[in-house]
Amino acid sequence: MSDKQPIYILPENIERTIGRDAQRNNILAAKLVSDSIKTTLGPKGMDKMLVDSLGDITITNDGVTILEKMEIEHPAAKMMVEIAKTQELEVGDGTTTAVMLAGKLLENAEKLLDMKIHPTVITKGYHIASEKAKEYLNELSTDLTFDNVSVLKNIVITAMTGKGAESSKEKFAQIIVDAIKQIEENGDININNIKIVKNKSNGVEDTELIRGIIIDKEKVSIDMPGKIENAKIALISEALEIKNPSAEAKISVSSPSQLQEFLNREEYMLKQIVERIKSSGANVIFCQKGIDDIVQYYLAKEQIYTCRRVAKSDMENLSSATGAKIVSNINELTDLELGKAKIVEEIRHGEEAMTYIRGCENPKALTILIHGGSEHVLDEIERAFRDGLGDVATVIRDKKIVAGAGAIEIELSKKLKEFSSTLSGREQLAVIEFANALEFIPSTLAENAGLDPIDVLTELKSKHDSGEKQAGINIFTNKVENVYEKGIIEPAKIKRQAISSATEVAIMILRIDDVLASRTPRNSPKMNPDYMQGME
Ligand code: ADP
Ligand code: MG
Repeated sequence: MSDKQPIYILPENIERTIGRDAQRNNILAAKLVSDSIKTTLGPKGMDKMLVDSLGDITITNDGVTILEKMEIEHPAAKMMVEIAKTQELEVGDGTTTAVMLAGKLLENAEKLLDMKIHPTVITKGYHIASEKAKEYLNELSTDLTFDNVSVLKNIVITAMTGKGAESSKEKFAQIIVDAIKQIEENGDININNIKIVKNKSNGVEDTELIRGIIIDKEKVSIDMPGKIENAKIALISEALEIKNPSAEAKISVSSPSQLQEFLNREEYMLKQIVERIKSSGANVIFCQKGIDDIVQYYLAKEQIYTCRRVAKSDMENLSSATGAKIVSNINELTDLELGKAKIVEEIRHGEEAMTYIRGCENPKALTILIHGGSEHVLDEIERAFRDGLGDVATVIRDKKIVAGAGAIEIELSKKLKEFSSTLSGREQLAVIEFANALEFIPSTLAENAGLDPIDVLTELKSKHDSGEKQAGINIFTNKVENVYEKGIIEPAKIKRQAISSATEVAIMILRIDDVLASRTPRNSPKMNPDYMQGME
């Protein structure tokens, strides 16, 4: 007979939750994350104010921004944040939708678990439903061609609504569509070629598209001209100075005249650099590195507008915008490497001066200059622009669009329920719960607009039952109507991605039935990697 000694296979500081407890705990955490951003969904969504440990304030309506700033600790909750990040990375919008969907899938799974349905059955049902939903989504989406500017604008407006850009959304939509059309190359868009610059002055409505680049650098010398017309631009990636002699090299001079000769020689070499630039025909220089004082002096004398220590990304954008080639060796600079712009100009806003490079002929990089009265406004408008740009870029690649405002979710839900009746077994219940989860989007849109979600859902369902596939809840008119015709249109890919990643995470969380958490105390003070990046 043994004496029933307990056997420990784990260290003492491991906290273990098993089975149903583990599931319940994870589902609860995931649901808390999705609840926390629920009120921000849609045009009438509320904003959140987040204050970090340094006292910096962010006011936003943007799902991924909120979740990133929340410093979430729980592992399942962190997985939810990952969905938002993936969504942002893949399509640039739809983050709140994706997270909410995952939260609801898990909440509904809880009901099935309570009915003693095994997690594997639920995950299988969810997987089937997700695949089917994506199939239906394809059938329900319409094709969009690049020249359909009015639809493109509507997509931008739909993406931007509720993000503080309301007053100027027509204008912003035009800016985005113009920008995207300008940088498009063979049907592809590189969003990095659109630079967003924020300017704390004037009102939001003065936001403009610059056919060129703005860099936050001033000219190196006040003796240089403040404005150059018909600029010929050289981009130089090496320092404009005499290369430092290596540390061991010694220069021995034995008389004052030798020293003078040495200095003259040095000045001569520096002057040669400027001669080289001048003979290429350049009248504007952007240098990625430093510039010797003497070189600056001669450049000013030659009336050449010069900026130094320009960021690498700006150099690349300048190259795309002006057509200039980045030269790494000044001796290779000829007029062939130069780029062009109508105007290069230093503009002062209060304390700061920036250099505007405007009027580029066929720029493949552009700048959106956002104006606004405060940092918070500027940041939120920037996020709205990023959502808008993300949506248009997505749709230009994918070319498929669907009706927003909950219309697509209701139609998918309806079709999934019809499909579920063809299934036998308990997976059927999971497919139905998946379909129910999709209804959470329109019902939240209604709720956030102060409407009764049940009334709205009932009306939506009855319209869809009678064949109105594009009936959604238009938050501007507060009516259930054909929202596609009203221009509430979204890229199909946003929905596809949201369904995929929400399902994936829900399944992943449902499969966990054992959590082993080490209880090592957290390192304090905690360093946020975001701050560390800035600390070079
Ligand atoms: P997400 O982070 O998921 O993009 P948003 O707060 O941007 O969340 O809200 C997007 C939702 O708002 C989409 O479902 C979209 O169809 C909906 N929406 C946009 N404009 C309207 C409108 N005028 N009426 C109703 N719903 C709208
Ligand atoms: Mg959005």
